[in-house]
Amino acid sequence: MKKVTLSFDNGPDPDTTPQVLDVLARHGLRTTFFVVGERLRDPGRRALCARARAEGHRIGNHTYGHIMPLGMSANPDLPAWEIGKAQDLIGTLSEPAPLFRPSGALGALNDTLFSRRALDYLVAGGYTCVLWNAVPRDWDDPRGWVGRALDLCERQSWPLVVLHDIDTGAMDSLDRFLDELAQRDMTVVQEFPPDCVPIVGGRIVGPVERYVAA
Ligand SMILES: [Zn+2]
Repeated sequence: MKKVTLSFDNGPDPDTTPQVLDVLARHGLRTTFFVVGERLRDPGRRALCARARAEGHRIGNHTYGHIMPLGMSANPDLPAWEIGKAQDLIGTLSEPAPLFRPSGALGALNDTLFSRRALDYLVAGGYTCVLWNAVPRDWDDPRGWVGRALDLCERQSWPLVVLHDIDTGAMDSLDRFLDELAQRDMTVVQEFPPDCVPIVGGRIVGPVERYVAA
């Protein structure tokens, strides 16, 4: 039996997030939703986060505005804007050690993820930083991503898959993806693979310098 962790980024979306929650509930699975903070200004969308939390999912911070990878800006105020502002909006729906996932340029894991200031901000704020190792680009190919996702899962010893609960139609195939995982004897767990979590509760526990802009 192999472990797989699922995450849903860039929501919540009024149509797609309930659809995803329904499918996950039917399969009895728990995951993490990395939400874009400014979307929570809408009470209906915040209520979807509350529903996800109540159903056992975790809510993580995926920046306030998803403007650009933090390492691509020299603006000294960007970390507080993108990380802090989103965390304020997540508020009581947060995990005790807040989860943060940076936005990456099309999923790339490189030195655009953090500026030095952003890294310091995460450490000072006691954040747990959650990266990824499987990006099937569901936004690009809403009908064809399942095969690619399964291939990526086969290749990783413990895949952490990034999907998106946004309005592309890709999540129409989530149910099929979950069936395929089960058929391959892969079990969905909520924990994160340790090598995708270089900062835990503000403590640097893995290699992060490779993700910090020079
Ligand atoms: Zn994103």
